[in-house]
Amino acid sequence: MSGHSDIVLVDEKGMRIDGRTAEEHRAVKIEAGVLKNADGSAYVEIGKNKVLAAVYGPRECHPRHLQNPTKAIVQCKYNMEAYSVGDRKRPGTDRRSIEISKITAEALENVILTGLFPRASIDVYIEILQANAGTRCAGLTAASVALADAGIPMKDIVPAMAAGKADGHVLLDLNKEEDNYGQADVPLAIVPSTEEIVLLQMDGNMTREEFDRAIEMAVGGCKELYALQKDALKRRYTVDGEEDDSDEQ
Ligand code: UDP
Repeated sequence: MSGHSDIVLVDEKGMRIDGRTAEEHRAVKIEAGVLKNADGSAYVEIGKNKVLAAVYGPRECHPRHLQNPTKAIVQCKYNMEAYSVGDRKRPGTDRRSIEISKITAEALENVILTGLFPRASIDVYIEILQANAGTRCAGLTAASVALADAGIPMKDIVPAMAAGKADGHVLLDLNKEEDNYGQADVPLAIVPSTEEIVLLQMDGNMTREEFDRAIEMAVGGCKELYALQKDALKRRYTVDGEEDDSDEQ
């Protein structure tokens, strides 16, 4: 997020370098139930981002000292593969992955009915296979579909999308160039049924008016994503009204 470059990110007609208008998000593909050995799973593409999420649980919480006698805990591990970015990323946990794992688990704790599973752990693994900005949002979007696929009781599923500012324009769902050379990035996740915000971060600078517009755009983007999350779950469990068990063979 350098805020200045010679690259024109938004042209005089308001078009972005990938051909989108300010209000358009990137192409989205969501598939539920892609991994046989996990309790629940999902694969998500948002533009050039490719993300896999796997869920295990509720299961006995290890290490035991983390157990909560009144509810399940949600443990999340966000991991960006070494090959997911242009320059090889150093494998393993870093400050960024610890932060993203924490905010993802906290967002999901808002919707999972954790009180039903005392002493248990619900484990969420997010693997970023290919990154192009917006991976924390794509990861959370995939994780909530994977939780639903695992049959974990939840108030709702959680869509996440960022809005931001580049070349002085407020834009939905920043791509890598807009994220690198733009002025602000605001990832957001909501509970669609209540419009409660369960994740909100901000990198860069915007005026109050621009921030309000960015939130409005990101909420709109999340609602579109929500419809696609539900479609993916319906496709997974319904083939002409029957449960789809084609990957069970
Ligand atoms: N990125 C990278 N190497 C890293 C971390 C990030 O190349 O170690 C890239 C990657 O494309 C990522 C983007 O920078 O999607 C923006 O990263 P940010 O930390 O803003 O998180 P994100 O937008 O992916 O949630």
